[in-house]
Amino acid sequence: MRLGIDLDGVVANFNGGWITFYNEEFGTSLGSDVIDSWDGIPAATHFASMREFWDWARYLKGASLFRHLETYDGAVNTLWNLAKSGHTIVILTSKPYWATHDTYEWIAEHKLPTREVHILDEKWQVDCDVYLDDAPHNIYDIHLHRPDRATVRFIRPWNHPVPGTHDVATWDEFQSFVDAHQA
Ligand SMILES: [Mg+2]
Repeated sequence: MRLGIDLDGVVANFNGGWITFYNEEFGTSLGSDVIDSWDGIPAATHFASMREFWDWARYLKGASLFRHLETYDGAVNTLWNLAKSGHTIVILTSKPYWATHDTYEWIAEHKLPTREVHILDEKWQVDCDVYLDDAPHNIYDIHLHRPDRATVRFIRPWNHPVPGTHDVATWDEFQSFVDAHQA
């Protein structure tokens, strides 16, 4: 099957990443669980808007934030297991235009088992059998446009159940879901 895999909040620990940089630079002690809503960053920081946040996140230690992110436990291993089982790993990630090259470098550094990367907002435009995402609007839109495919929500504090879609809490659960799913 073609597995459409999101990066930030699913494979890459986006919030953990920016929070580490933020605490270091501004002397704060925000916990890694401070974000519990989509676009909740301005409320948790001194940034007045997401625009201000992105202006900051664009230049951090010689690259953008996206170049520095760590992977979630189990993410890369599970992707390799799925790829070895014959599935095609299709990366579907939304990024600011200035993060394009950092995104490819990050994928290469972490050796994700993929030969197909799409950097785009409307992820449903890429035909997959299973989609895995954490963003509320993506989960909703993918299911709306591809109701006959499996849309899987990676449960995070900033998302919520969407009727007709599936939930997983861990990468092991995603592996089990794919194993049990027939395209
Ligand atoms: Mg995401």
